[in-house]
Amino acid sequence: VIEARDVEFSFGQTPALRGASVAVEAGEIVAVMGPSGSGKSTLLHCLAGILVPDSGEILFDGARVHAMAETERSSLRRDRFGFVFQFGQLVPELTAVENVALPLLLSGVHRKQALPRAQAWFARLGLDGLEQRRSGELSGGQAQRVALARGLVAEPQVLFADEPTGALDSLTGEEVMDLLVGAAREQGTTVILVTHEPRIAAYADREVMVRDGRVNAPDRIAS
Ligand code: ATP
Ligand code: MG
Repeated sequence: VIEARDVEFSFGQTPALRGASVAVEAGEIVAVMGPSGSGKSTLLHCLAGILVPDSGEILFDGARVHAMAETERSSLRRDRFGFVFQFGQLVPELTAVENVALPLLLSGVHRKQALPRAQAWFARLGLDGLEQRRSGELSGGQAQRVALARGLVAEPQVLFADEPTGALDSLTGEEVMDLLVGAAREQGTTVILVTHEPRIAAYADREVMVRDGRVNAPDRIAS
């Protein structure tokens, strides 16, 4: 469903990706592992159409994402992709339920439909009664579950998660992963998950290793 082919990307003089290739099938849950600074987040951002590679290709359902105009990439992100990041990044001015409804509201779903759809996630994620809280009034694990609901509420084709459990203790992290994997399997969502932790990566169908801006570099050199 989504693929990077020989992607190179530099931040100014700093190369972050040096010919990264990876292909993820529909419905797959893939963990992206590798040392700090190896290019995991940059790869995720290129796959998600947030960053445009300097060279190489990003293909989503055959569409050439790297060649799209920013407006086209932003509608792709809004309509097909979901995102969960390390610190949840909830909007502090909004209530929890408004945060979850946000992707629906941005896609033009009316508030009257969006809020009940967002609301339905609260019971499901064990967040009953927290709908009207602001993000500052939630624990780390609660905030991360709200962020997860926001990532999944629009039933995205692909969920991109960068260290979604990174700010949590291991027990809460495993709870969030149980919920993430359960919901993704139910919706048939493809998940691309960046993590440092082998215990979190174990939830994935498959692991890929990023080293020095390449995916599975040792195998590539060997082949
Ligand atoms: P971590 O596990 O620490 O999150 P990572 O594997 O996600 O690391 P990236 O964030 O993709 O690594 O960074 C890859 C390289 O690009 C690193 O050398 C990093 O210093 C550099 N880099 C990342 N973001 C920026 C930025 N905004 N500006 C300049 N250099 C950056
Ligand atoms: Mg990172």
